[in-house]
Amino acid sequence: MLDRPGEIEFKRYWPTAFSYSLFSCKFPKDVSLAADPHPQTNRNPLRSRVGDSALARRLAREIEGEVLFDAFSRGRYSTDASIYQIEPIGVVVPRHQQDILCALQIAADEGIPVLPRGGGTSQVGQTVGTALVMDSSKYFNAVGEFDPAAGSIQVEPGLVLDQLNRWLKPHGLFYPVDVSTGNRATLGGMAGNNSCGARSIRYGNMVHNVNAIDALLADGGRSRVGPS
Ligand SMILES: Cc1cc2nc3c(=O)[nH]c(=O)nc-3n(C[C@H](O)[C@H](O)[C@H](O)COP(=O)(O)OP(=O)(O)OC[C@H]3O[C@@H](n4cnc5c(N)ncnc54)[C@H](O)[C@@H]3O)c2cc1C
Repeated sequence: MLDRPGEIEFKRYWPTAFSYSLFSCKFPKDVSLAADPHPQTNRNPLRSRVGDSALARRLAREIEGEVLFDAFSRGRYSTDASIYQIEPIGVVVPRHQQDILCALQIAADEGIPVLPRGGGTSQVGQTVGTALVMDSSKYFNAVGEFDPAAGSIQVEPGLVLDQLNRWLKPHGLFYPVDVSTGNRATLGGMAGNNSCGARSIRYGNMVHNVNAIDALLADGGRSRVGPS
């Protein structure tokens, strides 16, 4: 039974030797990119909130985690593994659940979007945007309840896949969604992307290997996805 939002339960699997080719992508020669909805003129209404110092002060007053609104941090978080580069409004690195709730409430109150981020290894710009970025990779990496008989484990969303597998190894188990970015990819980001791996034909994607997710919603509400 999960009682802490952000935790994910996983099933148990055994290794075999299946593999398949994951990515094959060819662009047609005449591909044309859609017009930029927010060109040089900065018509993006949220652009004026980028680096908003009043918002940063409000967040810093209310949360214990890190509030990063300086130009260097915004630069770091404006990229991921994609070709896109978009400066965030600012970044919050929450230390505990209350920080997340608090930041979500402030963001809702201020009318700004929130963008969760794990390892930032996504390739199509999932983790960049004019938003308040919430980075779960630093403090949300605990392992919770482990039931070897049931083959399930609870983890926080910032836990990196390789760390989980190191933890499971002494028990003769491993988590089978073996993304090739496993030394950086977090379980939360893997769930967000419905990640797959070399052995997914045999073991499935994330959607087949997550029992439940306890989540905090953008409006401050809570939701449990999975069996109650
Ligand atoms: C070289 C390379 C190889 C790759 N190989 C694979 C592969 O084999 N298989 C594969 O599936 N992908 C692959 N990817 C893509 C990517 O690495 C994976 O999808 C990885 O699982 C993403 O994890 P992450 O922690 O970096 O997530 P992020 O990129 O940080 O986030 C992914 C998504 O999840 C959301 N998210 C993150 N954390 C949370 C949270 N706590 N709560 C709610 N939402 C959250 C984000 O908003 C985003 O939409 C590859 C990428 C690269 C660059």
